[in-house]
Amino acid sequence: MSIQDNLIQIEQTIPKHVTLIAVSKTKPISDLEEAYAAGIRDFGENKIQEMCDKYEALPKDIRWHMIGHVQTNKVKYMAPFVDLIHGVDSLKLLKEINKQAEKNNRVIKVLLQQFIADEETKFGLDENEVRQIMSDEVDNLPYVQVVGLMGMASFTDDENKIRNEFKSLKSNFDFLKSTNENISILSMGMSGDYKTAIEEGSTMVRIGSSIFGHRNYSI
Ligand SMILES: *Cc1c(COP(=O)(O)O)cnc(C)c1O
Repeated sequence: MSIQDNLIQIEQTIPKHVTLIAVSKTKPISDLEEAYAAGIRDFGENKIQEMCDKYEALPKDIRWHMIGHVQTNKVKYMAPFVDLIHGVDSLKLLKEINKQAEKNNRVIKVLLQQFIADEETKFGLDENEVRQIMSDEVDNLPYVQVVGLMGMASFTDDENKIRNEFKSLKSNFDFLKSTNENISILSMGMSGDYKTAIEEGSTMVRIGSSIFGHRNYSI
């Protein structure tokens, strides 16, 4: 199956109100061009250098999503062009994004990453840390706009467990939405679990291997 065929199949399973992010990390420019030709304008990458290289090489109407863990000293490289940073997992990082956004004379949209899985490898804030940042910090950071939450479920075959993790993220999302008018994006769901995520209220899914095929190395 071609990338285009994969996209046609996947798009049939995604409702209109859900945005598809094509996760192209590790994939060559030619694969991204094929997805672009099939209509994709939102691409997700998890390494800043790789995203910058692809940004240089590809059309400028692409919206670039940083979905990986971000080191504060690298924010400056993507600050001029990144559309949405999904993995904000500390106040320190949020402040650095604010600083680099100001230097570039723009407001950068971000999602706070909330930890919902029980695996130690997954980064993120807990529910209370998210709420505290929203209530105490965001008003002092005018060059970042927190527009929602991102989370990754456990890597397991237990669908019930995945569903419950998504439910917990959705419940904090609903709480924040009721108190902050900028909150509108709930980024949850990957190739293996995006259908469950959509059933549980996702508005943005990040899909890689089901579009581009398996990666030679992960994350
Ligand atoms: C790699 C990655 C994805 C996509 O994973 P697939 O299983 O290939 O769809 C989604 N979200 C994040 C944060 C990732 O790192």
